[in-house]
Amino acid sequence: MIAFGPVPSRRLGRSLGINNIPPKICTYSCVYCQLGRTLRMQADRRAFYEPEEVARVVADKIARTREAGESIDYLTFVPDGEPTLDVHLGREIELLRPLGLPTAVISNSSLIWRQDVRTDLLAADWVSLKVDAVDEEMWRRINRPHGSLELSSILEGVVAFAREYTGELVTETMLVAGVNDGERQLEEIADYLGYLQPDRAYLSIPTRPPAEVWPRPPDEQVLHRAYWIFCDRMERVEYLIGYEGNAFAFTGDVVQDLLDITAVHPMREDAVSDYLARAKGQWTVVRQLVAEGQLVEVEHGGHTFYLRKLGVSRGPRDGV
Ligand code: SF4
Repeated sequence: MIAFGPVPSRRLGRSLGINNIPPKICTYSCVYCQLGRTLRMQADRRAFYEPEEVARVVADKIARTREAGESIDYLTFVPDGEPTLDVHLGREIELLRPLGLPTAVISNSSLIWRQDVRTDLLAADWVSLKVDAVDEEMWRRINRPHGSLELSSILEGVVAFAREYTGELVTETMLVAGVNDGERQLEEIADYLGYLQPDRAYLSIPTRPPAEVWPRPPDEQVLHRAYWIFCDRMERVEYLIGYEGNAFAFTGDVVQDLLDITAVHPMREDAVSDYLARAKGQWTVVRQLVAEGQLVEVEHGGHTFYLRKLGVSRGPRDGV
């Protein structure tokens, strides 16, 4: 299936997914991959489908989606593998342009040291780059890269791309307990991302059954600490922790709003009070959510914060 969805995505609205790589061909075999172990490790770019065929299938899917009265906000390359392995990626983006919808690419960054990959990605409107590690040993442990790849070249490639790119650049950092969630590791990743200054830095956790049995999400305290370490270096940091939270959800439904907002940012006690005052809600709701295990109270810098309890699985394909 070359085109699927559209699926709702907090980051991209209603996103029509494009599968430009057969399953599962990747440059990495991440320990947390929800697709299981990589079937074919590959680091050379090649052709998988004719670009005209991809554009035709996507155009057809758009037409059928619109006929059904549904809207689409983004055309997103999010295959069951690494989209930049497709040597025709740039041409496909070009062929999709006349369809009048913005394009997004969710990449693991592994091939961005290549000029042709950077050139292809420059044509997209929104690009997400994975940065789970800036330390060689940690990178090998978590992403299990193809043997020909070098972390230093990838990190340089990400910086080179960020300098040139005029679209919206976001990063995604998957935190795995005991691997990249220590204070020092978080500081190093945050220093690098702080230098990069993406439009937004996402912190994610494994929420669905991973490729291996051992990867676990960090606990809420650690995730909260990671958030503040990132916030010290970047303006816009958000969680991607398994819920489609909306940071700006003030619908008046107190329970849903609190769960939505805290799925994206921790909420300080006084912000919760302000919200409750505006929504005419009571603190008993918050206490109830904590008692039910839906919200967690954490202390930071002399303040109490509330964040969404981790560990509930998302539906398929909502990682976009
Ligand atoms: S880069 Fe993505 S598709 Fe490839 S192994 Fe890692 S999580 Fe899976």
